[in-house]
Amino acid sequence: MQTLTPSFSTALHFIGGQLHDSPTRFDVIDPATGLAFQTAPDATQAQLNQAVVAAKQALPAWRDLGYEKRGEQLRAFASRLREQAPTLATLLTQEQGKPIARAREEFERSAMLVDGITRLAIDSELLREDARGRATLHHRPLGVVGAITPWNTPIVLAVSKIVQALYTGNTLVLKPSPYAPLATLNLGVLAKDLFPPGVLNIIAGGTDLGSWLTRHPDIAKISFTGSVRTGKAVMVACADTLKRFTLELGGNDAAIVLDDVDVEKIAPQIFWAAFGNSGQVCMAIKRLYVQRKAYEPLVAALARIASQVQVGPGADASSELGPLQNRAQFEYVRGILDDTRRSGARLFEGGQRLPDSGYFIAPAIVADALEGMRVVDEEAFGPVLPMLAFDDVSDAVRRANDTTFGLGSSVWSSDLDRAEEIANQLSAGTTWINSHMGVEPGVPFGGIKQSGMGVEYAVQGLKGYMEPHVIKTPAHDLQASH
Ligand code: NAD
Repeated sequence: MQTLTPSFSTALHFIGGQLHDSPTRFDVIDPATGLAFQTAPDATQAQLNQAVVAAKQALPAWRDLGYEKRGEQLRAFASRLREQAPTLATLLTQEQGKPIARAREEFERSAMLVDGITRLAIDSELLREDARGRATLHHRPLGVVGAITPWNTPIVLAVSKIVQALYTGNTLVLKPSPYAPLATLNLGVLAKDLFPPGVLNIIAGGTDLGSWLTRHPDIAKISFTGSVRTGKAVMVACADTLKRFTLELGGNDAAIVLDDVDVEKIAPQIFWAAFGNSGQVCMAIKRLYVQRKAYEPLVAALARIASQVQVGPGADASSELGPLQNRAQFEYVRGILDDTRRSGARLFEGGQRLPDSGYFIAPAIVADALEGMRVVDEEAFGPVLPMLAFDDVSDAVRRANDTTFGLGSSVWSSDLDRAEEIANQLSAGTTWINSHMGVEPGVPFGGIKQSGMGVEYAVQGLKGYMEPHVIKTPAHDLQASH
């Protein structure tokens, strides 16, 4: 197998500290044109095995290095992320579609996550010390972790898995989505000569590679972010070797807006929490429940914002929304919009003038939406927001909870006590009050119901990359040692 020198121009796997090509490569499409602009290497099963062997060999020394030194190396990686953001953000925009300013932000957010997570402490706990003796609880790394990421925010998700797995003393084999693998593969170029060889491995491929990774006997845990459907396949695959897993899956987040809000103030916040990244965010607002009195004013305010938004290629600095990331997603969202047009709902489509080529869809506000319509019941994962009216808050809560998803939710009101009371009744991993969206290093994030299992971030998330280990010592031995 050929070993090559680092460069941002040809995307290569990063295995055992070296850059490697594959016998075959696949096209990566620019969603702003619909045309292939680069290729990525398609990892063979032998290359996966090579990455796992490298990760296994690197494990003992990395595990024994301790939190402080691992944290230092990870923060050096964060510095490189910041340094290279201008170059890599261009690549991220070209493969993912998002506006260039948002791509740069994704690198900055990733670096901030590294800084924050590497300052968290996982302490041993004294469970009891009494006449019977002492029991303490420790956490140690699981071993080689496999990570699988989607295409919507590839860098922040890859980096969050890298920092959580490596900081806790594991080594990692990471697989990005074949739709947007290039910027993530280039993280290997950044990590080269920084971490000891084999600590971090990044290999590209599609469903087959994902499946081999989840079934590999020497991988102890899978950290997966993606759709509910693939998450279920991952869970089944993990059963064979009883792998640990974290599943961060889809959402159909409801926001409940009470009639005491300042409509003009919250409208832009709601708009961007629904349409940022062209709606391709797991925790975007995807169903908007609005109390009757505020309903029409909010429809008008959101439709006005939609009409002013600039949709265009992410590389164009004036674009506020880019294209959908891939053709399948583009067709899926168009199908939902066609159904919506036939449903009798009122559709307000904005976006000024759309480019002629590429996967562009204008942001659409759907008024008079109802449960039973695809736009309400399914995770559209696109620039479309259904608005549903309600009179009683209890009715809104029941309808918001009536879904198999349970990722995020939010309540909007000028009465914080009332908002908190409603928040307590919502079934979701996170409920925001007067905002929606966002993760931070010290706060756990995850979904309930079919939105996932386990959490990422914070001490709770880090413990998901570790196994508990209890040590018990009898009292008479403790006394003898004093
Ligand atoms: P996807 O499930 O199609 O793909 C995700 C990853 O899984 C890709 O790398 C893919 O190659 C891989 N994969 C496909 N088949 C596999 C298999 N059988 N075994 C193992 N891996 C396999 O998801 P997507 O379309 O890339 O991403 C969009 C979805 O991700 C949305 O549902 C979104 O809500 C969700 N998402 C969730 C979060 C979260 O934190 N909860 C964050 C971002 C995105």
